[in-house]
Amino acid sequence: MTSVPSSAAGALAELDAGLLWHPYSSMPAQHQPLLVESAEGVRLRLADGRELIDGMSSWWAAIHGYRHPVLDAAVQVQLASMSHVMFGGLTHAPAIRLAERLVQITPEELRHVFFTDSGSVAVEVAAKMALQYWISAGRPGKHKLMTWRGGYHGDTLHPMSVCDPEGGMHALWKSMLPVQVFQDAPPAGFDAPLDEAYLARWEAALAADSNEIAAIIVEPVIQGAGGMTFHNPSYLTRLRELADRHEVLLIVDEIATGFGRTGRLFALEHAAVSPDILCLGKAMTGGYLSMAATLCTPSVAERISSGDVPVLAHGPTFMANPLAAAVSLASIDLLLSQPWQSEVGRIETALTAGLAQAAELPGVTDVRVLGAIGVLQLRDPVSIEAATRAAVECGVWLRPFRDLIYTMPPYISSDDDLVRICRAMRAAAEASDAATR
Ligand SMILES: *Cc1c(COP(=O)(O)O)cnc(C)c1O
Repeated sequence: MTSVPSSAAGALAELDAGLLWHPYSSMPAQHQPLLVESAEGVRLRLADGRELIDGMSSWWAAIHGYRHPVLDAAVQVQLASMSHVMFGGLTHAPAIRLAERLVQITPEELRHVFFTDSGSVAVEVAAKMALQYWISAGRPGKHKLMTWRGGYHGDTLHPMSVCDPEGGMHALWKSMLPVQVFQDAPPAGFDAPLDEAYLARWEAALAADSNEIAAIIVEPVIQGAGGMTFHNPSYLTRLRELADRHEVLLIVDEIATGFGRTGRLFALEHAAVSPDILCLGKAMTGGYLSMAATLCTPSVAERISSGDVPVLAHGPTFMANPLAAAVSLASIDLLLSQPWQSEVGRIETALTAGLAQAAELPGVTDVRVLGAIGVLQLRDPVSIEAATRAAVECGVWLRPFRDLIYTMPPYISSDDDLVRICRAMRAAAEASDAATR
């Protein structure tokens, strides 16, 4: 129970402010980040001794919470044999076993696995696969990606080009980003009826431009960092049909939604859709280490491998890192060994009950819950400072963005933890509204 002495904590905070970029921040950052000393279960322990329930799972990743004995042991066992070796010309059991498991649990058509060290790079690899597929097929004119607005696929340049044009600040990067093909965002609502007129616009755009389009890329069922919106899973079924009809590949980005978060192991199971290329990341390692994966069908792999340049020219230094692979396999097997679906259902019920009253709050325009995800949408952009302070006072860590206060708690969160998270979200919404009025 030792805490960093406050003088040392103050010195660290000062160093942080002078040295470090944080996500989406300026230098120095406008708001001082909280100094975390350790984490266990669902709790973050701050240097000043305060404890916060992590309502964010460290951005979708820490589904089993922190310092889980099974995951700690998996890293330690692997550390005792090797932490890393290059993957060019060498291979190892952790990568092979993990690839085998990923192929087992994803749609049957996906048989090949490319490991990367982050989700953005998994999307880069997916884009490269799709573009090279058509180059190898002798149709290099099919070089664009098509997507819907409101998406988020990562922060490197090619993924940025398929993020929502406004959220992804395309105007700032105008001359640098590849120009992609956009449709409107999918009509909102998991239970909303399909909008045939909307699908007709996709059909018309594909009919007109499919000679330029390599692949459709979308997040399934939930658009995450682009706005935390839900859509009817049947849109995926229809995009699959459209892709086939117009000779375009389908890339599904499950980096946020994978590993149970929406109530299915993968969100594409809500629609029984099988993509040509699938991206995984975030919760894949239980939040322990940075690793992601791009899976593809034999048809994609064979086409690339029989082209004029018969290799996929990509090979990160830390490809298939053994520590990350070992903890990933342990995390997946831990998940599958439990009644995870009823745990996610329990969280869905608790979030639905705990957030229902928030609909009455001034400034709250929408409350939505799906699986272990709860969202309050506000009328105005959130005052991050006021909202964070209110949540911390309730003993909860939240990280709002834009007009959204949201949670995706670790699956091990107790009913009491969930009550506290919901209370903190309501308090954060009230504080933000008071601060922005
Ligand atoms: C987070 C995320 C990414 C990017 O992953 P990083 O590991 O942050 O590079 C890509 N796609 C989706 C859907 C994500 O949620």
